[in-house]
Amino acid sequence: MALLTQAPKGTQDLLPRQAAGWQKVEAVLRAQAELRGFGELRTPVFEHTELFQRSVGETTDVVQKEMYTFTDKGGRSVTLRPEGTAGAVRALLEHAAYNEGLPQKYYYFTSCYRYEKPQAGRLREFHQFGVELFGPGEPAADAQVILMGGAIFRALGVKGLSLHLNSIGCPACRAEYHKALHAYFSARAAELCETCRGRLERNPMRILDCKNPDCGRIAAGAPRMTDYLCADCRTHFERVQEYLRAAGMEFTVDPSLVRGLDYYTRTVFEFISTDLGAQSTVLGGGRYDGLVEEMGGKQTPALGFAMGLERLMMVLQAQGVALPGPRPSDVYLACADEEAKACAVRLAEMLCAHGVAADYDACGRSLKAQMKYAGKSGARAVIVLGGDELRTGVVQVKDMATGGQQPAELGAPLDEAKVAALAERLR
Ligand code: ATP
Ligand code: MG
Repeated sequence: MALLTQAPKGTQDLLPRQAAGWQKVEAVLRAQAELRGFGELRTPVFEHTELFQRSVGETTDVVQKEMYTFTDKGGRSVTLRPEGTAGAVRALLEHAAYNEGLPQKYYYFTSCYRYEKPQAGRLREFHQFGVELFGPGEPAADAQVILMGGAIFRALGVKGLSLHLNSIGCPACRAEYHKALHAYFSARAAELCETCRGRLERNPMRILDCKNPDCGRIAAGAPRMTDYLCADCRTHFERVQEYLRAAGMEFTVDPSLVRGLDYYTRTVFEFISTDLGAQSTVLGGGRYDGLVEEMGGKQTPALGFAMGLERLMMVLQAQGVALPGPRPSDVYLACADEEAKACAVRLAEMLCAHGVAADYDACGRSLKAQMKYAGKSGARAVIVLGGDELRTGVVQVKDMATGGQQPAELGAPLDEAKVAALAERLR
């Protein structure tokens, strides 16, 4: 029976009392993106498996261990998206959106799927808000995206997040760095975890991202990418930092920051919270100048970030940021009898048509119980409909905050203009 009454491990429901808070947060994120010229992108929940293998990268945990991949009834291998960037690049190419001119600036809200060990802040179905910019190669774009992250947290009233920043260079300078890393880790291979020994040959940078404490200790002494940057990458990274400083954005250059996905180049960054325990990264992103070409397009600089909405909500909760609950009724229509109910059904729809949230009882409650329910539900006003009201067409509008009553004429039968006047008062 538990199969019928328990959601799959690592997933969660949002009931209206929680979803209302999410809606508020989503509205802030949407507004911040649109202020900076981003438009919403919606892509499918599943894509061809090859898309993620190619873009996220064969050596990543996501591709090696975490994807929800299955064969559909037509024999195709499809995968529930583990992240949003691959789909965005695919959509850009499929619709040749770059022909509309660059930059192309997208934001998205997606559900993502990763077969991970569920724990606080780590789910199998989670949600991201993300942005992607295609076209801008200049460090000013890195600054815009990072500053937008900062602005989002400010707009939401979140405090105490630290911005970690690094550059992981371009394929040219990274080749040298890989050699240095390989030499360093080879000498200490016996102390590495088994996964990292496997990473040594294929992608030694992944070792820097390992969550095993022994590997972490060894990684702390590893050569730093920032010492291997080529002149162009170095200049780019310095500019990004200058722009951030000029904008008053505090940050820490963190040489151990490499990010979990293979497609990054140059700037990578994370916003980290101290309110989250082990799963402390709320937002992560960076540049991926090679990905569009890798996927079959023209060389196109690009960058973006994604934030985990569950983790964001956890930070908001930990910091006591108040979020709204579901919208209460503007007016509750309490009915004395069946005839009054017929009037309430019609009146409620007329009020709703004017944008007034109006509701009534359909659970067979007594008038007294309806009044109690109205009070508990947080309705702002109550109108009692009974024999007198139906005959005279005049009702009393009770303000639930003050307890005061004001008459309102609605007509008998209900008169459209008079209901509109009441709606004006109740809105
Ligand atoms: P982590 O190191 O925590 O596993 P990641 O590097 O895998 O993160 P990204 O792929 O960059 O994460 O995803 C961006 C953001 O999405 C993360 O910073 C985090 O807020 C969120 N996120 C990633 N995986 C999960 C998950 N399994 N459950 C909830 N949120 C997640
Ligand atoms: Mg991960």
